[in-house]
Amino acid sequence: MLEKLTVSEALDKLHKKEVSSRELTEAALARISAVDQEVKAFMTVIGDQALAEAATLDARRLNGETVGPLAGIPMALKDNMCTKGIRTTCSSKILHNFIPPYDATVTTLLKNAGAVLLGKTNLDEFAMGSSTENSAYFTTRNPWDTRCVPGGSSGGSAAAVIADEAFFALGSDTGGSIRQPAAFCGVVGMKPTYGRVSRYGLIAFASSLDQIGPFTKDVRDCALVLNSIAAHDPGDSTSANVETPDYTSFLNGNVKGMKIGVPREYFAEGIESEVKDAVRKALDVLVSLGAEAEEISLPHTDYGIPVYYLIAPAEASSNLARYDGVQYGFRAEADNLLDMYKKTRSQGFGTEVKRRIMLGTYALSSGYYDAYYLKALKVRTLIKQDFDQAFEKYDVILTPTAPTVAFQAGTVENLLTMYLNDICTIPANLAGLPAVSIPCGFAGKLPVGLQLIGKPFDEGTILRAAYAYEQNSGIERKKPGLGKGGAA
Ligand code: GLN
Repeated sequence: MLEKLTVSEALDKLHKKEVSSRELTEAALARISAVDQEVKAFMTVIGDQALAEAATLDARRLNGETVGPLAGIPMALKDNMCTKGIRTTCSSKILHNFIPPYDATVTTLLKNAGAVLLGKTNLDEFAMGSSTENSAYFTTRNPWDTRCVPGGSSGGSAAAVIADEAFFALGSDTGGSIRQPAAFCGVVGMKPTYGRVSRYGLIAFASSLDQIGPFTKDVRDCALVLNSIAAHDPGDSTSANVETPDYTSFLNGNVKGMKIGVPREYFAEGIESEVKDAVRKALDVLVSLGAEAEEISLPHTDYGIPVYYLIAPAEASSNLARYDGVQYGFRAEADNLLDMYKKTRSQGFGTEVKRRIMLGTYALSSGYYDAYYLKALKVRTLIKQDFDQAFEKYDVILTPTAPTVAFQAGTVENLLTMYLNDICTIPANLAGLPAVSIPCGFAGKLPVGLQLIGKPFDEGTILRAAYAYEQNSGIERKKPGLGKGGAA
C-alpha cells in the first residue's frame, strides 16, 4: 500500500528510514503493472532505470550525503517534456521515434531534487484537446469510471496520480490542460503564473500561454513540488527573474479576512447544476473560516474561447512548422523534397493538429491578420484588464474548474462542445495568472473541481486558500476502485 502515500508522507518515512526509495519505486511499478492496462496513463515506463536511480539515492541517503528535497519520490512527466535519451512523442506519430538529446529544465530540476522518473504519460497530440482522445496512440481512461475520459490534454498525468501509479506528475496547461483533468480525476492541479516555471524543453504548443505545473494528491504536495520546479531559467527568455518563496509556508489554514471574488459569468448557463452546488458549498466552507465573499463581474469572460482559438492556433501554426521530416521524427518517402514535406506532415499529424495549423495559418495570413489575430490580441488585453481590476479589491477569484464532470469517451461529437469545456480555465492563461484546481466533492461517482485564481506570482495565496479548504472541507479522501472495471 506504499503507493497510496502522499509525497509528504513518503518523504517523512524516507527521512525516518522506515522505507527506502527502492521500495517506493517497486510499489509504484507494481501498481502500474496491476492497473495501467485499464487506465492507460503511460506512454513509456522506464522501470529498470527508475529502480537503479532509486537504489543510488538510497545509498546516498545511507551514506549521510545531502540529498534533494524530493529525493527518492517516484513521479511521471507528461510526454511533451524532453527527457534525455528517453523517447518523447508528444503523443504524435510525427515524433514516434524522437529521443531528445537534452533534458527540459523541469526534468533537470526534478532530477536535482532527487525525484525518480517512472515514465512518460499520455496526452492529446501536441496538447490539443480536453480528453486525451486526440492522442495518436490510445485514450487514457478515468480511474473513477473507465468508460469516461480523464480530461485533457494532460489526462495521463492526472489519471496516473489518482490511480496511485505515481506519487506526483507534471503536466502543461495552455488553456486548462492541468486544471480540467485535475478536476475530472479528483486531484490537485496547478497552473503557475506564466513565467514562473521554465518552458525550456517543453514541446511548444502556444508559447504565450503554455505553462508547466504539478498534479498531486493534496495541496501540501502541490506546494512541495512547486518549490522544486519554480525557478528563473536563463534558457527561457520568458522565465521570470523573481524570488521563489517556500510555498509550504503558506499552508497555515488562515483565511480570515481573505477577500474572494465570485464572478457571476462562471455560474451562468452551461455549467451543470451539480458542479455549481459543489463549488458553492466549498465557498461556504471558506466563508465559515472567516473569508469574505462577494459576487463580481468579469464582463469579457465570454470572449475567452474565441480569442483563445485564434491566438493558440496562430502560435501553434508557427511552432509546428519545424516538423518537416528533416529535423525531427517521422519522415515520409517521396520523390522530391516538396512532396516529402507534404507527405510527412499530412501523414504525421492527426486531424485536430492539422485543423489548428490551418486555423492559425488563416488567422495570420496577410488579408486576415488585422481582422482576426490583431483583434484577438486586443480582446486578450480586455480580459486581462477585467482581472487587474478585480484584483485591486480581491485576493482570489473562485470559480468551477470545468462546466461538467468527466464525460464518456467517444460521446462528444460536436467540436464546439469539446472546446467549451475550457470556458472556466482559458481566461487565466490569456491573462497569465496562477490558478489551481482542487477536489470539492462528487457528482454521482465523478469528482468535481474548484478553481482558485490568484494575482501574478501570488501562488502562495491560492495555496493558502486551497489548503484551508482542503483541511476543513469534510470531504473524505476516497480512491477509485480499480481492478473491478473501474467502478468506485
Ligand atoms: N483543451 C484546450 C485545447 O484543446 C487546452 C489544451 C491545453 O491546455 N494544452 O487547446
